[in-house]
Amino acid sequence: MHVTLKEGRERTVLAEHPWIFSGGIDRRKSDAASIGVVDVRDHEGRFLGRGFHNPKSQILVRMLTRDQEPVDKAFFINKIRAAVALRETLFDRRVTDSYRLVFAEGDGLPGLVVDRYGTVLVVQFQAAAADFFRETILDALMEVLSPSGIFERSDVGSRKADGLTGEPVGVRRGTVPEGPMEILEEGLRAVVNVHTGQKTGYFFDQRDNRVALRRYCKNAQVLNLFSYTGGFTVNALAGGAARVISVDRSAAALELGQATVLKNGFVSRNEDWMVMDAFDAIDSFTGAGERFNVVVLDPPAFAKGTESLERALKAYTKMNAAAIGLVAPGGYFLTASCSHHVTPELFSNMLHLAALRAGRPLQILEFRGAGPDHPQPIHFREGNYLKCVIARVL
Ligand code: SAH
Repeated sequence: MHVTLKEGRERTVLAEHPWIFSGGIDRRKSDAASIGVVDVRDHEGRFLGRGFHNPKSQILVRMLTRDQEPVDKAFFINKIRAAVALRETLFDRRVTDSYRLVFAEGDGLPGLVVDRYGTVLVVQFQAAAADFFRETILDALMEVLSPSGIFERSDVGSRKADGLTGEPVGVRRGTVPEGPMEILEEGLRAVVNVHTGQKTGYFFDQRDNRVALRRYCKNAQVLNLFSYTGGFTVNALAGGAARVISVDRSAAALELGQATVLKNGFVSRNEDWMVMDAFDAIDSFTGAGERFNVVVLDPPAFAKGTESLERALKAYTKMNAAAIGLVAPGGYFLTASCSHHVTPELFSNMLHLAALRAGRPLQILEFRGAGPDHPQPIHFREGNYLKCVIARVL
């Protein structure tokens, strides 16, 4: 099977962009009809590479390779080895034994996410381009990494948009401990649950931002909003925080957070873990006139699509303005957004408006993103989703 691109549409493929939309394809010169691997040709019939064709997806073809190679177990083994080689450079296992091992398009494996939790791997087949090869990929992972077990957490919304039915979850290879597990991140322990946690169980993308927070926390009173399992909380404590209040609406997440703090030998009071809507918490702290030396604001993605972008930006602005108001003069504010649709530029603009609305000047100290275990092909801006700013609030 093959698809032939319209004239000029080869440019993105040559620039290693991994997606081809249906508008880029010359149907009269293409014979691809079903789901599967296709050759991709330019308008003159020259071979450009191989991709995964999925007529049920908006992204008609996801590129797999620029070479004339078979897409088989050896192919996946090579890609996984390359992904592993990067992580081996990045991490010393005595300090960090858990991280994102495969970041989909970022590692040349469209639709495939693999997170390493110590000796256990958690996989997500987010798109048909990965799901189609699921057994081959699982075998390849076993061969390259010999994990003690592989757990699948394909309960992700993106599958539906790709025409996949069901959200499979379960043990796929070996054994996976039931209940919470302990991992190591930048010298700190974290208690996680890959069965019941959000995403694959933990948010690895914020690791370096959590570490970055440490230096601002000496003797600080810290408020961590949308704390999940307390990743920022325990790093604030490691940085010398006097007290950290963590707010999340998930009681299960906060329970793991408190276990994490105790495992690391810090004290933890029950009242420092607030099962609460973060918006209500902001209102009630504001009403009580409370101020913190450090406020962390890491909400879930508000903008799920471009339609809701404007509404989402308004909500981000309002929430950021309110959170800035909770920072004591000279204190620090860490704010993040993981919405794909909010570009770094839009995020900066939002923060600008929020500071104006709060009537508090901000000094931007750090503009950060996801850690290097989330590599981004230069022409694939869609992969750049996490923004994180650390600012001083005057
Ligand atoms: N900062 C965390 C990740 C945050 S993920 C870390 O470093 O690991 C976003 C969190 O927001 C989730 O834990 C989710 O339970 C929580 N959440 C979503 N909506 C919320 C709301 N309205 N109020 C409080 N928490 C909320």
